[in-house]
Formats: sequence, C-alpha cells, structure tokens
Amino acid sequence: MPPYLLGLRLGGRRVLVVGGGRVAQRRVPALLAAGADVVLVAPEITPSLEDLAGTHEIVAAGEIAASEAAPPRDRAAAGGRLTWLRRPYEKGDCRGAWLVQAVTDDAKVNAAVAAEAEAGRVWCVRADDADASAAWTPATGTVGETTVGVLAGGDPRRAAGIRDAVVDGLRDATLEARHSRHKPVGVALVGGGPGDPGLITVRGRQLLAQADVVVTDRLAPRELLDELAADVEVVDAAKIPYGRTVTQERINDYLVEHVRQGKFVVRLKGGDPFVFGRGAEEVLHCAKHGIPVTVVPGITSAIAAPSAVGIPVTHRGVTQEFHVVSAHVAPDSAASTVDWPSLGRAQGTLVLLMAVERMTVIADALMRYGRSPDTPVAVVQDGTLPGQRALTATLGTVADEMSAAGVRPPAIVVVGDVVNVAREIDMIRADMGRDP
Ligand code: SAH
Repeated sequence: MPPYLLGLRLGGRRVLVVGGGRVAQRRVPALLAAGADVVLVAPEITPSLEDLAGTHEIVAAGEIAASEAAPPRDRAAAGGRLTWLRRPYEKGDCRGAWLVQAVTDDAKVNAAVAAEAEAGRVWCVRADDADASAAWTPATGTVGETTVGVLAGGDPRRAAGIRDAVVDGLRDATLEARHSRHKPVGVALVGGGPGDPGLITVRGRQLLAQADVVVTDRLAPRELLDELAADVEVVDAAKIPYGRTVTQERINDYLVEHVRQGKFVVRLKGGDPFVFGRGAEEVLHCAKHGIPVTVVPGITSAIAAPSAVGIPVTHRGVTQEFHVVSAHVAPDSAASTVDWPSLGRAQGTLVLLMAVERMTVIADALMRYGRSPDTPVAVVQDGTLPGQRALTATLGTVADEMSAAGVRPPAIVVVGDVVNVAREIDMIRADMGRDP
C-alpha cells in the first residue's frame, strides 16, 4: 500500500528523538526548523548536536515532566527548542510526544521505543528498519513557500535524487514557470550564452521556460530547446520565409505578430544579444510597435570561448585592455569602419569574431600596422560546446595553420600575450604531474 504523505506543523509540539548519532544529527535541525520542542534522549551526542544543544536550553531529567501539560505554542517564527536528556532511553519517555524518532544504533532499543510509541498511538519513525517503521521520513526540500517530500518505496537514495531534481527545477524555475500565475508579456530578448546549456543565465532560463513561442538563431544553444514543453512553438529565425534582403525585417514582424496574438515570445540568441547580434534592432522595432521587451544579457563568446581554453582576456602585468572586433568585412574594404591601424599599434588583447574566412588579410593588416609576427594567437572553434577545439599559432602563421586544421565558424581568434598565460598554466599543471 502506498504511504499517506502528511505535512506536520510541529510548532511547539514535543518530538522525542532517541539516539544522538548521525541520523539524529540530520533530523534534529529539520525538526527545530519546523518549530518542534525536541527532547533528545541519549547518553552521548555528536559534537554538532552538542553545538545545537548549546544554543538551546538543556534541562535536567526531572523538568521534562513539569512542562508536559504546556499547550503547543506557535513557534513557527522562533524556531524550536532542544532539550537534551543525557541518559539512555527509559520506558515512559514517549509520553507527551506527538512524534517519536527511534534513531539509536541499537536495534533492540529502537524496537522498544517503537513498541512504546505504538502502544501509546504515537507515530514513530525507525531509522534502522523501514519495514518495522510506522512512518517514513521523505526526502524533503524547500524553495520559497513550496516544500516537496519524496518517498520512493523505501529507497532513500532514489528519493533524494528525485527530490534534488525537483528542487533544482523549482530553483531555476524551469519546473514552476509553466504553471506560474504571472506570465510575462511581450518579447524577451535572451542571451543564450556561448553554447554550453549551463551557461545561460538563471533569468534567461526562467523566461525560456515560460515561452509560448521561441525564435532561435543558429548559434543559440540547441540543447536548451530540448527541455521545452511539446506545445511550445520553436521557430528557427533563419527559416522564417523571407526575400533575401529582408531577413531582419521578417524576424521583427514575426515577433510583433505573435505578441499581438497574445503569445509570450522569447527571442533566443547566441552569446549576448547586443554583441554583434542585431538585438537592439529588434528592441527598436518592438518599441515602435509599443511592445514591451525584456533584455536578458548573456555570456558573450568573445570572453567565454577564450576562457573555456584557459585564456584570460586581461591579465595583470600583461594587458589592461581588450578589444572585441567584428571581422566580417576585410580591413581594406570600403565597408569596414574598424580602425585597424590603431589596433595594430595598440598593445591590448584583440578578440576577433567572424574572422575565419578573412584571417590572412586580417593578420597582414595587423602586422603591417605594427604588431609583431611573433605575437601569440589562439583560435577557439565551437567554444564550450562538445566539439570544442583550439589551436595556437603566431600572427605570422595563424592563417596557414587555420586552413591546415580546417577551422570552421563559429570561431574566436585571440591575439596577444594573454595566450601565453594559458600555456603557462598548462605547463605548471604538467610539471606537477596532475594535468586534469
Ligand atoms: N552575440 C554573439 C556573437 C554573434 S556573432 C556573442 O555574444 O557571442 C557570431 C560570431 O560569434 C561567430 O562567428 C564567432 O566568431 C562567435 N561565436 C559565437 N559562438 C561561438 C562559440 N561557441 N565558439 C566560438 N566562437 C563563437
């Protein structure tokens, strides 16, 4: 038969705990948190129970009877009271208790406690023998006002695992969000991070879990979409039908259309929505149509891809600046607004996005304007994703190395002495013989 799960409101009610070992150590704080008057009977208790007892009152054995008639008090706010009776269990200890925990390491004592409780019609939990126990302790967790309790047919490990999953879901709101009373409206422009699904923000994940429609980019973390409920409409922005030149307008219109249908739309982008992501164009468009937009920043690949391979974009004593550059047009193109001569002269780290196809002309420009051919360079493809790979070279060799290695977008190119910091860390690890 399945057990019947209850939530006991223990404020001011006596709970007898017999035994002062590891099990008691786990249960007593939860009982106190629920406001119980805990009477702990044990000749010896663990140091941490002793600490707890130290902050609560300890009364002599005789006094317990005196308080017996006291009515339950509301201790919800105050937390409970702990009374330690420094002696072995004695028949009669269960009297006056609403709940008993038999948690000694002696099965005979536990059985005696359980028998007394049973005779007095008091619920008793036995820690050592689930079958002989009148009540079971669920694995519990509390997030805000919600408390979950899980019993898994007497398998405490499985119960704890399920509890963890539910609590995690409540914490990052992926679980509750779909059932939330307050559904967001309009559009959320969410930065999905560089690719690893663990690198989206908590806010981004919450909003994603509440979406009716998700419009994604090629670089938005795909794994996050697998978690969405079946009724969520997922649209690939690249596949929204459009004439060649009006992609962005078509996406903009799509967002507005769906919000007007009463849907909450999440626009999921790779990295940060405002770093070469045209995110602000979508915000402007929505603003013109009176549609509210929540912008959720994301971890940009400009910083995350280097750090995923141990390269810090700044490092004390090496550089005080880093420049993030879109290299989607060649330096000598009329369409380029990047000040390549300054970047050539500058000492700081350069982080180049969308540079794969043009690395030869970019490296040439940087060397022409002053950077040494020996400047260390790293290339990180598919940063933070399962297929992540990296190569290191110099400004003089990087273009050839990239084509030899067959580097493909998306990739980040990092130029500067910070690349050596990662090597230094690797060398120290190797020297210590514990390269992880
Ligand atoms: N808004 C994004 C950047 C969009 S531009 C962000 O903040 O990360 C697209 C470029 O980003 C790609 O061409 C590549 O240079 C870079 N990029 C995005 N994700 C990447 C990843 N996981 N690894 C390496 N580079 C990445």
